[in-house]
Amino acid sequence: MSKKVLIVGGGLAGTIIANGLCRHIGTELRRGDVSITMLGTTDTHMYQPGLLYVPFGKIRERELFRPQRKVLDKRVIFHIDPATNIDVDNKKVTCKSGAVHEYDYLVIATGSRLMPQNIPGMQEGAHWLYDLEGARKMRDALDKFEGGKIVVNVNAPHKCPVAPLEITFMLKEYLEGKGLWDKSEITYTYPIGRLHALEPVAEWAKPAMDADGIKYETFFNTKEVDPAGKTISSEEGVTLDYDLLVTIPPHAGAEVITDSGLGDGGWVPTNKTKLLREGSTDVFVCGDTTNIPISKAGSTAHFEADTVIDNLASLLTEGRWARDYDGKVFCFVETGMKTGTYVWFDYKTPPNPGAPSQMIHWFKLAYNRLYWLSARGLL
Ligand SMILES: Cc1cc2nc3c(=O)[nH]c(=O)nc-3n(C[C@H](O)[C@H](O)[C@H](O)COP(=O)(O)OP(=O)(O)OC[C@H]3O[C@@H](n4cnc5c(N)ncnc54)[C@H](O)[C@@H]3O)c2cc1C
Repeated sequence: MSKKVLIVGGGLAGTIIANGLCRHIGTELRRGDVSITMLGTTDTHMYQPGLLYVPFGKIRERELFRPQRKVLDKRVIFHIDPATNIDVDNKKVTCKSGAVHEYDYLVIATGSRLMPQNIPGMQEGAHWLYDLEGARKMRDALDKFEGGKIVVNVNAPHKCPVAPLEITFMLKEYLEGKGLWDKSEITYTYPIGRLHALEPVAEWAKPAMDADGIKYETFFNTKEVDPAGKTISSEEGVTLDYDLLVTIPPHAGAEVITDSGLGDGGWVPTNKTKLLREGSTDVFVCGDTTNIPISKAGSTAHFEADTVIDNLASLLTEGRWARDYDGKVFCFVETGMKTGTYVWFDYKTPPNPGAPSQMIHWFKLAYNRLYWLSARGLL
């Protein structure tokens, strides 16, 4: 009997797993011993980290997209048919069309979604770059901006933990470039008592913001935005005026996760080294949708995906476990329009951001293009 691998979600994690698995089990696929099926929501694959450059006019939008079918190995059976129910007891997934897919191994890689509607006034009063429409609107707003108060407001949980810092430092240099910095100020808000969840990153960011003259407000848990009065208030009782509000909206996991009773907020309880759903031996969880308390980042998803590929390939061909995930994450961090640094860490090693350089900024730009090879498993 042919073994069925079913992948729900065709974003970064799902795509890397599908392509990587094809490379590892070519013989089994050719013999028909294994099939790989992916369920997705769209025929287009978006490189989300590229959104960072859209508001600043630093990337052409078409560079962010490829047809999903072209990014996927030909041997992957791909359906654009979102999953509506995941039944882990009976090993089957139901789709919007009514189709039902059975599986031997399931990979849940449904990512996260933006929830600006969770904060009163945010949708009407704020800009964000975490989706294409938002990034376009932010570009238009920046084009018209003539100086004033900008608030960069960070809400949790959210993906790409370094993006808010990148946005802040890039905004400052963007305004300098337009000759507007003298009549502008930026205030960065963060929900806990420091500037970043990762302590070494917070310690690095504070002197960098001080040197740039960027203000900050910690312990700022957003309560509401008043679009008419142009203010944003926190649960802690602080109210800030703004002329331009840039927010990182709070995120939730996919609806299908909560609808299927697989995890509060759409986050699936996941073993942090096995990447198996807690209580399952045949359900892998990868990327933003896990509840593992590490960064929700493409890099995390990629390193997790490599582990899932190894384990699935070994289970399918030899019936054994290959290796555990060590918590590795590597992220480039833009520290302005022309410089960058990077952080890497794992479950045992804390991050240690280095001195920014032009070279690292160029590496980040190069990776933005190399992503398409990486997603295909060629890098
Ligand atoms: C502006 C920005 C900048 C970023 N910068 C970086 C960076 O510099 N470095 C970094 O490492 N990360 C970065 N990230 C984060 C990175 O893009 C995400 O962490 C990564 O895409 C997560 O991969 P994923 O596969 O878990 O989720 P996604 O890539 O979001 O994929 C999830 C997929 O599941 C699909 N899906 C959802 N529900 C269903 C369903 N019911 N049925 C079928 N499919 C479904 C979705 O349509 C989507 O295609 C950035 C993100 C943004 C927005």
